[in-house]
Amino acid sequence: MIRAFVYALLGIVAITFLRLVVGVISRGFSDLLNEETKKPDARASGAPAGGELKPCRKCGTYVVASAARKAEVRGESSYFCSDACRDAR
Ligand SMILES: [Zn+2]
Repeated sequence: MIRAFVYALLGIVAITFLRLVVGVISRGFSDLLNEETKKPDARASGAPAGGELKPCRKCGTYVVASAARKAEVRGESSYFCSDACRDAR
């Protein structure tokens, strides 16, 4: 009778301990996953997401085509990083 009680108690302690260990491990994994998912967000916030990079015709700075200033230069469309570069062409 006492033995059964001790086994039950050990089982509860073992399960509690296992849940604690699994919890710590899964929390560690989710922290790792959060770190992994944080990096692209930080990178994406700097520039508009997606889009082709085009060099500024004037200074050579690469700009996302959708955010670049476009102008026709001798019949071909050119990209500029800023209005100043476009006007100074
Ligand atoms: Zn430029």
